[in-house]
Amino acid sequence: MNIIATAQIPGFTAAQQPSHATDLTTEVEGLQALPAGTSYDLVGATPFHTNNHYGIPGVVTALQRIAYDYYNATHRVQNIVTHGKPIDQNHMRLRYNDMSLIAGGLFDINGQWGKTGGHASHTCGVDADVGNTDATRTFSINEDDLNNIIINDFSGAFLIHEDRGGGNEHLHIHFADCT
Ligand SMILES: [Zn+2]
Repeated sequence: MNIIATAQIPGFTAAQQPSHATDLTTEVEGLQALPAGTSYDLVGATPFHTNNHYGIPGVVTALQRIAYDYYNATHRVQNIVTHGKPIDQNHMRLRYNDMSLIAGGLFDINGQWGKTGGHASHTCGVDADVGNTDATRTFSINEDDLNNIIINDFSGAFLIHEDRGGGNEHLHIHFADCT
């Protein structure tokens, strides 16, 4: 942890500046970007947060492994044969949405920078949102399968179903508590 002084956030109007300046004065060092991968998509970047896929190194590695394992667990060979080979169609790629910002800290929602409205836990690189449908937005994620993979791949991590039935319904992987 490194305390930095933050007065005004560049690129935002006065109304969009955080109402509690101290909320943004803690910078988390050492967060790494989750790179693009073949078994998951990176989504959720907005003008307010373009660097939304940062986590501590162990979480970044775990997210890659979880997506890879889910991708393989959803392997289904269809009874469709082309050129003598079956086509497997249901390799499902996860949709990784917001993790933490590049320097950690409170995650702004629509520029509100509030502690409420979700993402209160996304401050130190140990949380990741996951779409409740796959990257094609066609197939529902099997939560039991995904949770089993998460538990197996990262001790102590678990899956949360957020805003069930609401307009922002999604899954959330919690790896650890901020220290
Ligand atoms: Zn979340």
